[in-house]
Amino acid sequence: MKTILVVDDSALIRKAIRRILEPMGFQVAEAGNGIEALDHIESGGPVDAILLDVEMPQMDGLSTLREVRSRAEMAQVPVVMCTTHNSMATITAAIQAGANEYIMKPFDSGIVGTKLQSVGVG
Ligand SMILES: [Mg+2]
Repeated sequence: MKTILVVDDSALIRKAIRRILEPMGFQVAEAGNGIEALDHIESGGPVDAILLDVEMPQMDGLSTLREVRSRAEMAQVPVVMCTTHNSMATITAAIQAGANEYIMKPFDSGIVGTKLQSVGVG
């Protein structure tokens, strides 16, 4: 079973994503911010892909992405950025920093499934 690390400062959004992913057969690990996400990674928790919120306190999505990509074991893990507004500048920066895909909130199960498939996690 593949594990998706869901990183979002909103517990409600993490729960909503969990409800989308679990029926698809994914295991879900949750992190409330970038620091928790890095803790999960450093503790050796399984991560087959990351859904990463852009706007978060403490460590935002872009900073988290750069930290993730700087770790050798995470250099290739698929990362899908989740953003609330259509900020091309942020999306472009995220793609340049190594994000594979992005989705706009609010999203439904169809788009989440499609994006995960497009990054090779089906
Ligand atoms: Mg947020």
